[in-house]
Amino acid sequence: MANLMQNINEIDELIKLISRLPGLGPKSAKRIILKLINSRDELMKPMAKSLAEVYKNVSRCKLCGALKSNSLGCNNCSTENKKFNKICVVESIADQWSIENSNIYQGYFHILGGTLSTSVTNRKEDLLISSLVDRVKKNSIEEVIIATSATVEGQTTAHYIKDSLKNINVKVSKLAQGLPVGGEIENLDDGTLSSAFKNRSRIENNPD
Ligand SMILES: [Zn+2]
Repeated sequence: MANLMQNINEIDELIKLISRLPGLGPKSAKRIILKLINSRDELMKPMAKSLAEVYKNVSRCKLCGALKSNSLGCNNCSTENKKFNKICVVESIADQWSIENSNIYQGYFHILGGTLSTSVTNRKEDLLISSLVDRVKKNSIEEVIIATSATVEGQTTAHYIKDSLKNINVKVSKLAQGLPVGGEIENLDDGTLSSAFKNRSRIENNPD
């Protein structure tokens, strides 16, 4: 097979990187690179600059897991301009964006950055759960809505969070069972998401 890219190292490296992006393989990576090369000044240069700026100035907040501007601080968990009594706990920033876009929820977000793996790897410390407990206390939160996926991992994580909050006087609810089994929040349509929110149910304490 003819190699269109003539084995230029820089290009090979870029193909490898772009191929690792969601939904892209080597073929689309090559198309993207050709487009960039053909639009050096209109696309490639501003994109390189923009990527460098995002790399330097945007990071995940260590308290709530949302994306924040390093210079302006976290807009999600700062309490200066808004006062909510609910926190919605999601697995990923993509889930936060889906819920925000659907306009069904007004409140704070808490982004775990994953689930408690049901395997042996224990990543409890990475999931920002102790900072969730702190936020609930500090902001006098009345309801924690757990919006983890309807997967085994998502539900295991929901129970762990419920357990972590058991000594605090706060209502803990989770999205309705109308969620398709295995359903990931970011892939749900607004209607399904909206009814899952409306019909959310309280998680009761375990009898033990
Ligand atoms: Zn934050």
